Amino acid sequence: MSTSVFISGANGFIAQHIIALLLSKGYSVVGSVRSPAKGEKLKELYGSKFQYEVVPVLEKQGAFDDALKNHPEVTIFLHSASPAAIFVEDNEKDTLIPAINGTKFVLESVQKTSPQIKRFVYTSSILTIAYRELFSDPNFVASEEVYNPITYEEGKNNTGLDAYVASKSLAEKAAWDYVNKNKPQYTFSTVNPVCVLGPQAKDEEAKGSLSSTAEIINSVYKLTKDDKISEIGGQFVDVRDVAKAHVLAFEKDEAQGKRIITYTENFNPQLILNIIRKNFPELRERLPVGDPDNVNFSSYAKIDDKKSREILGIESISLEDSVISTVEQAIRAQN
Ligand code: NDP
Repeated sequence: MSTSVFISGANGFIAQHIIALLLSKGYSVVGSVRSPAKGEKLKELYGSKFQYEVVPVLEKQGAFDDALKNHPEVTIFLHSASPAAIFVEDNEKDTLIPAINGTKFVLESVQKTSPQIKRFVYTSSILTIAYRELFSDPNFVASEEVYNPITYEEGKNNTGLDAYVASKSLAEKAAWDYVNKNKPQYTFSTVNPVCVLGPQAKDEEAKGSLSSTAEIINSVYKLTKDDKISEIGGQFVDVRDVAKAHVLAFEKDEAQGKRIITYTENFNPQLILNIIRKNFPELRERLPVGDPDNVNFSSYAKIDDKKSREILGIESISLEDSVISTVEQAIRAQN
């Protein structure tokens, strides 16, 4: 029988790549979603080795108990579900509470309900290491040892983006605290991606406005001649590398108890535009030119991901390859 992996937030951009990779490696997968319609859609996309459970509310104690009891065959748990919206009505209710309490409660459910689960991987973020420094402080070194000191109050009282940064930072902190205090039967590790770009796992999902950061390349691809180019850039990693990192995070003994940063190179929308213009000459007429030289990242922090790279041992997909795959997929989906 194949090893069975549970993943929360199964319909998400990153989660679907993890599911596709797991199935291609012979694992079977149980995914949690918030509605039966989302589960049925995933079953159509991923076939009979994929099953789903509906868990409508993340932040309820014991929310995952029934789903876990239905699957005594599961031995690995990946927790990927978390609010990812930046524009919310209520920072606490919409972002902080589901992320932080949801993470604590799911760790507890797995410990109490599923003694056979031996490995737990949490999808964290580079933002639990730093946020503003990433773009503004070239002397800042972001590494696996650094923790973002953002507080709950800052997340509650500032912008929706601050709430997101605080939600990830405090959820990861709560997770390490839980594991250190309660000594569960599973080992625990985190994957801390920078900004995740790249194609959808399935072409069927590449239509319209895309969820999460998947929309970043798509929005540059959709620009027309007179549109302004956004200045907001960041650090890039391809979604397929993030999926690999999640799988290696439970497969490799040396990944246990570790934070694993996934990072490849820096980007901004102008650089994405330059790559599209270079590789898709047929789109040049429609796209703007912008300022092709506006691709300077000297104010960005240094990402020291040496330890993570040693653990993962994978060759990263470049921004250029990521943009090409994404645009090729957008063109296929459009046709
Ligand atoms: P998506 O928005 O595509 O996926 C988010 C998933 O979480 C969806 O399944 C969503 O369900 C679920 N979710 C959101 N809010 C809740 C909630 N309150 N209760 C239950 N489920 C919820 O985003 P990504 O794939 O990008 O994100 C996946 C994970 O990766 C998140 O933990 C995110 O913080 C993390 N991450 C993402 C990065 C990125 O650049 N994209 C970078 C670093 C970390 P539904 O569809 O029903 O809303």
